[in-house]
Amino acid sequence: MGDDIEKTKNEALQVIGQHRDLPRLVVFDLDYTLWPFYCEFGDEDEEPYLYGEASGVLHALKEKGIDVAVASRTPTPEIATAFLRKLGIHSLFLAQEIYPSWNHKTEHFQKIHRKTGVPFTSMLFFDDEDRNIQAVTKMGVTSILVGNGVNLGALRQGLAEFSQKSASSR
Ligand SMILES: [Mg+2]
Repeated sequence: MGDDIEKTKNEALQVIGQHRDLPRLVVFDLDYTLWPFYCEFGDEDEEPYLYGEASGVLHALKEKGIDVAVASRTPTPEIATAFLRKLGIHSLFLAQEIYPSWNHKTEHFQKIHRKTGVPFTSMLFFDDEDRNIQAVTKMGVTSILVGNGVNLGALRQGLAEFSQKSASSR
């Protein structure tokens, strides 16, 4: 693990450590959430890369025992999967729902729920598209719109909103 990733991971561990109510599962979109491009315009021979702080955030969650999953509507699942393998993060994800759909990821989340058994209210979701955020929020998932990919700021916001929601539902 590189120094930058290690540094981000340690900061992310601190952020996570500030909260008692934590999600059981954190779900990530791919394009413009974990990586800064649409993978449908790439090809499998390319070398993909993540947003600068994404890898540190993912590894911190895993280290704290919080599961991670992917929900992507890309029209090219084979490229997305090849990129996850090349990045060496493929095996981190407990569930990978990667396929196009007409709805805004409600089907993806039903399947993630069925596969993992985690209730929607125990999930946290990051995505760069407002229509996905709106649809998945209605299912009971704490959903965060990212403007510049997943980073420490998005993690801070996500965990704070998750805590508030958990406190208000008690
Ligand atoms: Mg996206």
